[in-house]
Amino acid sequence: MEASPQTTEPTPAEPTPDTRPDLLGLSLPRMAATLAPVLDRPFRAAQIYEAIHRRGVLDFAAMTDLPKAMRDGLAAGFRLGRLAVTERRVSADGTAKVLYRLPDGATIEAVDIPDRDRRTFCVSSQAGCALACSFCVTGYWGAGRNLTAGEIVAQVLGLRRDGGLVIGDGLNLVFMGMGEPLHNLENLKDAIDLLAETISLRRITVSTVGVVPGIAAMATWERRPNLAVSLHAPDDALRSRIMPINRTYPLRELFAALDRYPLEKGRRITYEYILIQGVNDAPRQADQLAKLLAGRKAKVNLIPVNPDPVLGAAMVPPADAVVQAFQERLYRHGLTATVRRRRGDDVAAACGQLRAFGRDPRGFRVNPAAR
Ligand code: SAH
Repeated sequence: MEASPQTTEPTPAEPTPDTRPDLLGLSLPRMAATLAPVLDRPFRAAQIYEAIHRRGVLDFAAMTDLPKAMRDGLAAGFRLGRLAVTERRVSADGTAKVLYRLPDGATIEAVDIPDRDRRTFCVSSQAGCALACSFCVTGYWGAGRNLTAGEIVAQVLGLRRDGGLVIGDGLNLVFMGMGEPLHNLENLKDAIDLLAETISLRRITVSTVGVVPGIAAMATWERRPNLAVSLHAPDDALRSRIMPINRTYPLRELFAALDRYPLEKGRRITYEYILIQGVNDAPRQADQLAKLLAGRKAKVNLIPVNPDPVLGAAMVPPADAVVQAFQERLYRHGLTATVRRRRGDDVAAACGQLRAFGRDPRGFRVNPAAR
């Protein structure tokens, strides 16, 4: 399959403000409370909730089990915040990257990654990112805004529909798109509470750079997803250099929080480790990494760095043999380590490449002169 950009909608000069409340991010009790004034009977809220989240209906007119007058009333007062697809690109390996335009003009990306009989959706939690990791293109563009719970849920519903996936199919969901999920904790929680009704929590993973208060908060959640931590360096000096967040939450504090994160039986925390040639790929760094994770319920996911013109010349992936040697060295220390295959990189959908197809993801609020 050829990479196929499909432009489905021109970018307008200004967003149209829509002040109707969005129902997509609302739990059933909240939806019932919000809709109470327009519903004739209390069970209607459950009917609408089921239509949206179990059947994927994103249009009041299509909720034909409701009386016509009620559908019209709902459409007048509320919206189902489906996202406008600005562009959808399908990679030669089947990975589909979708660019969504949000009502305020911000743009975000979500990725649908097929893998034999499995499917992984990778969604964004913020439009932009404040963390400025040296190897990440999203961070290069700078801080954006938090997505609402509805905007997070809408990505999943949109990918599901565009990808022809019915509810109940084996689906993995990873919060590894644009943004830092733990900088948007409340909306992340609301979205996960909702999504966990149709996707098993065991198949939902939140990836973080290691925002310690966020990890501590998640540890208290009733519905806890899997945790992945972007580690990328085995010592504070190097980690602080490539990930500024480490200056705020150094490794000792990070691991103290991770060690308190409750894990179900057989579960482990995933440590993502980008491999950058000459920076963090030496055998002694594999040894250091193994030492750091020794005795912890951990698995390592090695990711050869995806280069990008905006990142400069230093972001070079090591040769395959070096990646393999690093992996084998971890094995020898008794660590489980996998190497993440590159997916969708011909349409810039690979890890760290999400940047709204080369646009500034932050939307109309940003004054370009201030950059
Ligand atoms: N902010 C969270 C969620 C984003 S996950 C986090 O960083 O964990 C995106 C993953 O892709 C992270 O592990 C990130 O470190 C990784 N990544 C960023 N830039 C990359 C690049 N150029 N090549 C490969 N992986 C990259």
